[in-house]
Amino acid sequence: MRPASTHDAIVIGAGPAGTSAALALARRGWTVAIVEKSVFPRRKVCGEYISASNLALLERLEIVDAWRAEAGPEIRRVGFFSGDTSVEAPMPRAKSVPATGDGFGRALGRDVLDSLLLDAARSAGADVFQPCRAVAIERNGVCQAVRIQAGARNSPDEATILRAPVIVAAHGSWEPGPLPSQLGKKGHPSDLLGFKAHFSGSTLPPDLMPLLTFPGGYGGMVLADHGRMSLSCCIRRDMLARLRGNLARKHGGQVSAAEAVEHHLRATCEGARKALQEASLDGPWLAAGPIRPGIRTGYDGDIFRVGNIAGESHPIIAEGISMALQSGWLLARELGTAGCGQAKREAVGRRYEAAWRELFSTRVLAAEAIARIAIGPGGGAMMRAVVRNFPQVLTMGARLSGKTRAAPGFG
Ligand SMILES: Cc1cc2nc3c(=O)[nH]c(=O)nc-3n(C[C@H](O)[C@H](O)[C@H](O)COP(=O)(O)OP(=O)(O)OC[C@H]3O[C@@H](n4cnc5c(N)ncnc54)[C@H](O)[C@@H]3O)c2cc1C
Repeated sequence: MRPASTHDAIVIGAGPAGTSAALALARRGWTVAIVEKSVFPRRKVCGEYISASNLALLERLEIVDAWRAEAGPEIRRVGFFSGDTSVEAPMPRAKSVPATGDGFGRALGRDVLDSLLLDAARSAGADVFQPCRAVAIERNGVCQAVRIQAGARNSPDEATILRAPVIVAAHGSWEPGPLPSQLGKKGHPSDLLGFKAHFSGSTLPPDLMPLLTFPGGYGGMVLADHGRMSLSCCIRRDMLARLRGNLARKHGGQVSAAEAVEHHLRATCEGARKALQEASLDGPWLAAGPIRPGIRTGYDGDIFRVGNIAGESHPIIAEGISMALQSGWLLARELGTAGCGQAKREAVGRRYEAAWRELFSTRVLAAEAIARIAIGPGGGAMMRAVVRNFPQVLTMGARLSGKTRAAPGFG
């Protein structure tokens, strides 16, 4: 006899993609399991800015009031800090926001946002397995079996098996692992490594979100919740190694990656240096990556993918949370009501992939082009010349990156 399913759907990962999919499915009457390896609340490498284009979706997920109560100030200006250049321009206002809405994005720490979303999914009836790591996905008759391990990575705890016809991979793209939906290891000099820290006491204007460019990378700054300024950036692996070597020779002894990154930012970007002048680190620097920008697949091997693992834009446009939230919602919309045989899953997979590409391809490609220029030789100088003379390109870039485009079904 075949073992019965434990759920209608199993979602692996409780970032914004996994929780929005789980929440939307649970509200449609699905029995959903969410498997998350980390204990929440947890900080995460992320700039934490969310475009106002998500407000209607957050309202539908019934977390918009909590989000508004917690998030930092409205971001009404987009900026550009590079070398000694600091330029600002208006942030375009998003259309189709809820009646009470404002049309401007805000930043909320991932420790707060992800907990908020997971609590909402739990309240909607999702079973949460946490801290539990999904370590294998196997076909098992009409169901698929997900093997999960409780506790820390190498804990000897016994594995549990969950079974469902629908499997949703929402585990992000930065960590290699044994699941068929996870990406392989990467180790090239041109890889981009992600860093992030919170600072308190920053003098960054509260309504301004500047893009930072510096030799070998790019980043961003924004005031988030509780007066915390979120500073995040990506830097080439080879540049980071060079910086660490130079600093170690200069000062003697080992220099951490985070020390090298912070030193580099302060030394090469005047706007960042000024914003950090009176600021103090609030918690440790975090590192992740390499990041894996690109368009991948939404459905393969009978596993649906949402968020970063379906496709990822360079964080230079700060749209990853939007794409995660919206892709989870999009998949749940295509899945509809519970009950999902293989033929239905394949049809849903095709429709979901087509909708994903329609909605996100432009911003992934735009982000790729901007990032290439920012990091490429002479790119910083070229960007400084263009932005100084035409500050309106910052507003245009924000529009092109999807900041005003409503989530699917909310336009
Ligand atoms: C430097 C930097 C700055 C950024 N700034 C912004 C920004 O300002 N705005 C923005 O919108 N986006 C930003 N992004 C992008 C954004 O962080 C990501 O796109 C977003 O987190 C993707 O969400 P996700 O749900 O797909 O994956 P994640 O947020 O990565 O969540 C995946 C979850 O899955 C869990 N998991 C992984 N493997 C397993 C497993 N085997 N079993 C169980 N659980 C597992 C993880 O613990 C994690 O909680 C930034 C990215 C970087 C690198």
